[in-house]
Amino acid sequence: MTLLRHTSADQDVQREALTVNPAKTCQPIGAMYAALGLHRCLPHSHGSQGCCAYHRSTLSRHYKEPAMAGTSSFTEGSSVFGGQANLLAAIENIFTVYNPDVIAVHTTCLSETIGDDVPQIVEAAIDKGLLPEGKMVIHANTPSYVGSHTTGFATMTKAMVDYIAQSSGAEKIRDQVNLIPGWVEPADMSELKRLVKLMGLDPVTFPDTSGVLDSPQTGIHEMFPAGGATVDSIRSAGDSCHTIALGPICSGPAAKALFAKCQIPQTTMPLPIGLKATDRFIMKLREINGGFVPDEIMTERGRVLDLMTDMHQYFYGKTAALWGDPDQLVSLAELLITLDMIPKFVVTGTPGKKFYKRMGEVLGDHAQGCKVDQGSCADMFQLHQWIKSDPDKVDLLIGNTYGKYIARDEDIPLIRHGFPILDRIGHQHFATVGYRGATRILEQILDAFLDRQDRDAPESGFELVM
Ligand code: SF4
Repeated sequence: MTLLRHTSADQDVQREALTVNPAKTCQPIGAMYAALGLHRCLPHSHGSQGCCAYHRSTLSRHYKEPAMAGTSSFTEGSSVFGGQANLLAAIENIFTVYNPDVIAVHTTCLSETIGDDVPQIVEAAIDKGLLPEGKMVIHANTPSYVGSHTTGFATMTKAMVDYIAQSSGAEKIRDQVNLIPGWVEPADMSELKRLVKLMGLDPVTFPDTSGVLDSPQTGIHEMFPAGGATVDSIRSAGDSCHTIALGPICSGPAAKALFAKCQIPQTTMPLPIGLKATDRFIMKLREINGGFVPDEIMTERGRVLDLMTDMHQYFYGKTAALWGDPDQLVSLAELLITLDMIPKFVVTGTPGKKFYKRMGEVLGDHAQGCKVDQGSCADMFQLHQWIKSDPDKVDLLIGNTYGKYIARDEDIPLIRHGFPILDRIGHQHFATVGYRGATRILEQILDAFLDRQDRDAPESGFELVM
């Protein structure tokens, strides 16, 4: 806990090589999460087994659910001579013992550094007859020294297109839409599908971790839970009339690949977190469905507006610090601006080209007073220094569990959002996308402010009605 306390607010800490408490993690965990969104799929980590154990355990700690995956369990020998024998043995064992429909192989920094050719190994497995009839192995190269966990998620999602999606050659299906939801919680994926269906369209959603990482307790352990996008549904993505990719970093590459492979027109847009971003999502669907929005959705939107009006007196001028994944941060910042709040400090450890531009567009006139940083030194240490150094600090923290140390040190309320959330339970059941999701975020923010007000109020100002 003291890690973040070892510099004082007035120390100017210039760093180029040292990352302290990063605001990202490595690619393979993203690929593993995406692969769990494929029905009857076993993610497989091609590398040494420590990576797989770490990534499974982090997913389990976030979801409080089993997160299944295999590993090639490299030894020193495979590190020198290559991991082909390990992967061939793994493919044979996995199909014999666990019987998934798909093995989704991702790589670690070890197998990437030695340069294993995974497609060639998979070909060798097919030649040796190690793939039972109807089964498949897909793969994504996920070097952990490039990008972040979001990059791994994007690459595995794109692999689903590369390996599975096909155009049947028939006319595109007019009311079928590909929905690539990005790195969001299972409840978000359910909510997005619900909205698309309400708009009279049939969503082909992938990856889809709803029904996988929010499974009910039945007393029986299901190695492969009921949820996840089926191979057949992803195959039919090649016949859809449009692709909506939510979040350019996590979903953009798959949408572009679908366009290149099957000529599906695509729209890549921000995650629909908050009123404006959800409006854009619904308007896009309205273009596709021929121009209608059902009353149910209009009612949900009206509720958000009503809440914003009722709560506005508490939001106006309040400041927040945000950290996490770029796709999430851009939409969250826009939501705060809509509430007349100021996202004063924003950091993401995920590198990338367009983040500053996207944040600049969202911040608009506020950009001057806000600090945004990206890359390996844009970490929790950096964020904490900014907060410590500002005489007004900030009124609110929004981000993953790692922010709890700053929250405690600086006595600032924290709303847990993003990945990972390791110290709370049940968050995967509550969407933060769409109008319903916006009502939840609004309630969380207001609760944080009013709890603080109650806690700090003098006896004479301790109000019953607020
Ligand atoms: S950084 Fe490399 S060694 Fe560490 S968990 Fe990620 S893939 Fe494994």
